[in-house]
Amino acid sequence: MSTALRILIVEDEAHLAQGLLFNLQAEGYEAAIEGDGEGALARLAREPFDAILLDVMLPGKSGFEVVTELRAGQNYVPVLMLTARGRPEDVLEGFGAGADDYLPKPFDLSILLARLNGLLRRLKWHRPEDANSDAKDDLRAFEFAGRRIDFENLEVTALGRTIRLTLMEVDLLRYLVRNQGRIISRKELLEQVWRVREDTDTRAIDNFIVRLRRYIEDEPSEPRYLKTVRGIGYRFLASGD
Ligand code: CA
Repeated sequence: MSTALRILIVEDEAHLAQGLLFNLQAEGYEAAIEGDGEGALARLAREPFDAILLDVMLPGKSGFEVVTELRAGQNYVPVLMLTARGRPEDVLEGFGAGADDYLPKPFDLSILLARLNGLLRRLKWHRPEDANSDAKDDLRAFEFAGRRIDFENLEVTALGRTIRLTLMEVDLLRYLVRNQGRIISRKELLEQVWRVREDTDTRAIDNFIVRLRRYIEDEPSEPRYLKTVRGIGYRFLASGD
């Protein structure tokens, strides 16, 4: 039985796409390339993939538009966005559109593989058929202050609405909930949630926190539950401050 995970590379730079294809295959993945957003969306409508490496700057539809359309169509395949260096606004926009993680170009192949592994491991946790996986987390839901986080169905219900969460958002929330009351550094989050030990830009974490606040806080700019601890990181307080 072939159990190779399938990765779709959406990248218009042929050299880079071929290099990624070669390396992913060498790592035991099945991989395919699409050179633009329209092609990627058409392919994803026909064939299932386990994750997507999605370049932002594409001819025609941008990577942002692609991930937005996927999410609007209820496709929650994990997406790792490849962004241009020096464009932090890309990171924000990517997460806003529903990407699970991002990597600025040019990137180290080892880091890309680590991030991809992180996304795929999460996917495995959330698949019912893998319920016996030793990585399976037993925290199914958490309720606080009239809000409900459903870790199994990737949803948060708060302030009268239900919002679909990405895999990374669920993992980050779960880690914060499990460690409620404790001050958690950005470095710890990077290592424990993103599973990345390399020196990585921690802005991704701050951006995720901003998003989570929009879901659960009455006033995201004055958070009561998901607090910033200046110079260190974050603290989750289920009962509010
Ligand atoms: Ca490009």
